[in-house]
Amino acid sequence: MRVVLADLKSNRGFVSKDTVVGGYGSRLDPFSRVTAIIAHVKKQYHDVPSVHMAYIEAILARAGHEVEWTRGGDTVDGDVALVLSSLVDHKNETAWADRMRARGTKVGFIGITASKMPDLFRDHADFILNGEPEAGVMRLARGEIPTGIVVSEQINDLDSLPFPRWDLVGDCYGSKYGIRWSSRPVGGGLPLLASRGCPEFCTYCPHRILAGYRARSIANIADEMERLCDQYHRPYVIFRDPLFTEQRERCLELCDEIQARGLTLTFEAETRLDRLDIELLDQLHAAGFRAMSFGVESLSPATLKKSGRRPIPEAHQRQIIDHCRKRGIVTAAFYVLGFLQDDWNSIAATIDYASDLGSTFAQFKILTPYPGTPMFKQIEPLLTETDWEKFDGYTPTFAHPNLTGRELRFLLGAAYTRFYMRPSYLANFLKIQNTPVREWVSRMDRRVNDRHSREEIADISRPVTC
Ligand code: SF4
Repeated sequence: MRVVLADLKSNRGFVSKDTVVGGYGSRLDPFSRVTAIIAHVKKQYHDVPSVHMAYIEAILARAGHEVEWTRGGDTVDGDVALVLSSLVDHKNETAWADRMRARGTKVGFIGITASKMPDLFRDHADFILNGEPEAGVMRLARGEIPTGIVVSEQINDLDSLPFPRWDLVGDCYGSKYGIRWSSRPVGGGLPLLASRGCPEFCTYCPHRILAGYRARSIANIADEMERLCDQYHRPYVIFRDPLFTEQRERCLELCDEIQARGLTLTFEAETRLDRLDIELLDQLHAAGFRAMSFGVESLSPATLKKSGRRPIPEAHQRQIIDHCRKRGIVTAAFYVLGFLQDDWNSIAATIDYASDLGSTFAQFKILTPYPGTPMFKQIEPLLTETDWEKFDGYTPTFAHPNLTGRELRFLLGAAYTRFYMRPSYLANFLKIQNTPVREWVSRMDRRVNDRHSREEIADISRPVTC
């Protein structure tokens, strides 16, 4: 059987899918000069193929099937096509599916969006795999072509899965190394899932709603890393676990294993700052850890608690980020603007905090209620947006109790401008530590901040035109 795997690229803005927002995806359609630059940079470094599709490729190839991976919008010969679904680009995905079905190919959708929102895909598909896809794909590999919506059970023993087959992905994926910006190479590196799901309870988060938390054994993860080292020169591994350092001892064990095997690689991961300490950071760094992303979300502990998120003491956040800076570990902090408790002042305080915290990068998004999350149920009566593609993380989608949509978009733009258009951003990016230089940079920051304030007051005072 010839199977086409469609991990389709979007032709609008910068779209991330697969493990981003649990698989619902995000779309950065630039809305300012700063976000245009960020979108451009992300296209070079963050456009990473789907790890779930690479697992599927391995399962099908192991069973002897011919597999063709596509990211373009052209139709491809095949008996069956599997399409990675997303919320932010589902119209492009279903249009491609329609064209494939017109050629006689059976089309199935996988991923969280098709699982949680099958009505968006039902009329464009022969089948939908509801759940993590691997169990359903194993049945497909045995020749059972599903019809309708079929449950694909989560696989508890993740070690039983074959390793993702990046070598079979088109465009010689994995060979585009050498030019590094910050820590990631051009092409983005190789995604790896050491665990799946998240045991935390943040009510807005889709990472915890498709399947439960499970982790692979250290030996199995190290085997995959060793294989990547055999296939690629000094690979850059992107751990896509929602909470990489959830189990401290396990992480230490992995560091030991990487060093014991002499693996020459670097890696990044996403985690919570309260799941890090100085000793663990040092061990991770010695094993090749070069970048991390983490949620700060809001400055207000009360707001975080209302969203089921355990606040992390500010002193701990600062200690970890300062230590990362000393070690040369790149840090990217995530913030959410527009929690139900937020108002203008609380968001302004969060933006100020983001600049002051000193992470290398920051990502700001507007609170978006994702189907299947507890927060979606809470906000559903307030929804104003009917186009699901606008649930992209950057668009207001519901009537906020304290802020208009225009105000939220304004604050989002101001957050990016204030964070990235200040001298200390450049100093952090260039890893400048020299004390007199840092003091001068802080003084310049204050002057630039004053200028931003004047410009923002002028902008928000203009008459509303839409
Ligand atoms: S810590 Fe919270 S936001 Fe992060 S992945 Fe887990 S549930 Fe989601």
